[in-house]
Parts: sequence; C-alpha cells; structure tokens
Amino acid sequence: METTRRDFLKVAAVGGAAATVFGFDLAPAYAQLRELKIARATETRSTCPYCSVSCGVIIYTIGDKAKNVTPQVIHVEGDPDHPINHGTLCPKGASLEQDILNERRLLKPQVRRPGATAWEDISWDQALDEIARWTKKTRDATFVEKDAGGKTVNRCEGLAWTGGCTDTNEFNYLVVKTMRSLGVCYLENQARV
Ligand code: SF4
Repeated sequence: METTRRDFLKVAAVGGAAATVFGFDLAPAYAQLRELKIARATETRSTCPYCSVSCGVIIYTIGDKAKNVTPQVIHVEGDPDHPINHGTLCPKGASLEQDILNERRLLKPQVRRPGATAWEDISWDQALDEIARWTKKTRDATFVEKDAGGKTVNRCEGLAWTGGCTDTNEFNYLVVKTMRSLGVCYLENQARV
C-alpha cells in the first residue's frame, strides 16, 4: 500500500510508532508536529474556488468539536493526496485563507442603481425579487421570435449569463437549462468538479 505524506505524519503523530516501521528516528519531527498550529485542527478537504483547474486543498479549522463554538479557519494548504495538484497551489490558490478571513469579504447582495456611484446592501429576498422582476421585464422587451428573414429563432438578446468558478457541474446544468428556456444565447460558465 502506498504511504502518503499525510499518512506518514499521522503515523508519527500517534506516538512515533513509525520510527520502527520506517527504520529511522522520527522523534524530532514528532516534537515539531506537536508545536504546529495545525496539530489539533480538523482537516476538511475541499477544492480551490478560483479556476477550473480545481486544485485540492485542505482547510484546517479549530473549535468545531465543542458545542456553541464557531469553527475558526486557521490554515489552508494544497492537498498532497489530490490527483490534480499533488499539494501544490498557484499564488492565487495559496492566498485562499485570506479569501475566507477577510474583513472586506462581501456577506450581503449589493446593487448599484442606475446613475448611482455607490453600491448599497440589500437583503437576499429583495435581491431575488429584483432579479426576477428585471429578468421578466428584459425578456419581454427583447425577445425575438423571428429574425429579419422570417425564420423562427425564439431568442432573448437582452440578457446574458456568466458563471463563476465556484459553480458546480450540477449548478451549471441548471443554469443552462434555465437560460436556454428563456432564450438566452449569450451564456458562459466554467467546467467544474
Ligand atoms: S490553486 Fe490556482 S491553479 Fe489551482 S484551482 Fe486554484 S487558482 Fe486554479
């Protein structure tokens, strides 16, 4: 059976038993591991959200095993067992922790009204209502049933959709079905896991 780097360190972590298995002294490495900030953290395997390469990451959290404690992300690194990236991350992926722990992270939908210079926070209910209302209004106003030659085209030229890199295949499937049912031609998304 192949031993991964993570397995190797885990064996060391349970008391240096690996020293006899692998034939050399792991005591210094074991001592260092106990000092690491991730030593008692929970590992959650995930996928970098930034691009379609879909590199595997491990997110380390503490405080998620006790009641009434909000889990706290303390570290994110590449997953060495992941078949795509083997533990490596590009600079953008390596900054993933700052994406999670960032005071400037948006937590609410925002809208910039016509003519306005600033964005305003709105509720999710308000955002959904406004998206539905504007989608209907724009589709009704820009739907083309026949082209200039009288050929039936049934397309909506006033709407476009672009997907984000965190969208899953399932989400993209539903997006394509929904947009095509509206007649939307200008449609882009990103292949994802
Ligand atoms: S680490 Fe870089 S290459 Fe990998 S998925 Fe994230 S952004 Fe893409």
